[in-house]
Amino acid sequence: MRYAIISDAHSNWDALHKVLQDLEREGVEKTIFLGDMVGYGPDPNSVVEELLAKADINLAGNHDWAALGWTDITYFNPYAKIAILWTRKVLTDSNRKNLTHLKLMVKDNEESLLFVHSTPREPEKWHYIFTLEDAEENFSTFAEKICFIGHSHYPSFIEKNERGQLAVKPSPLLKLEPGCQYIINVGSIGQPRDGDPRACYTIYDSSLGSVQWKRIPYDVVKTQAKMRALGLPPYLIDRLALGR
Ligand code: ZN
Repeated sequence: MRYAIISDAHSNWDALHKVLQDLEREGVEKTIFLGDMVGYGPDPNSVVEELLAKADINLAGNHDWAALGWTDITYFNPYAKIAILWTRKVLTDSNRKNLTHLKLMVKDNEESLLFVHSTPREPEKWHYIFTLEDAEENFSTFAEKICFIGHSHYPSFIEKNERGQLAVKPSPLLKLEPGCQYIINVGSIGQPRDGDPRACYTIYDSSLGSVQWKRIPYDVVKTQAKMRALGLPPYLIDRLALGR
């Protein structure tokens, strides 16, 4: 089975559209979206509709909950807050309702996979995994071979071997080892922060036992022009070109 695991589209329709085109070329059989359909970008309604039409599973992210008023946005940075308040205003009633149906965490027992936006530990609290200590805390909360996450917008592979040792694997292509467990951050489609402005997503091939990040260029300038026309914060517009 070839899976595409995609995340953090953040109302960036141009980036999402390019990624979905690439999934067709890749012959992906199942697509899982790990949350944050909305927030930051200019196209919340078309992104929600496209993901519901094209992904097999859609999860909730903190920005989706923020758009519903289900999560506290006082801890959001001021630009994220402005974008969420704007998103609340423009979301259609039916898309608001669509967001209420998104699940926090889903398991695939057959392939021993876990999918969640933030962390398997307390997914509703939107913790981050930035360090190996953060990862260690989370490895103890799930039994599946791989846990796929998003949320930080930094793609990363963390491996835990049979002796319980953790390591970060830097290559864009990871061969899975028997007896090891993994936490894999699939990166962000709509607002990458690892210094590469191209959309990022991950392909998992269960028969090859491999996971691979892919980077897909899209028309950043066009997305920025849409954001400018809508009066979204310049900080959010500029960061798209930098991938920061
Ligand atoms: Zn996000």
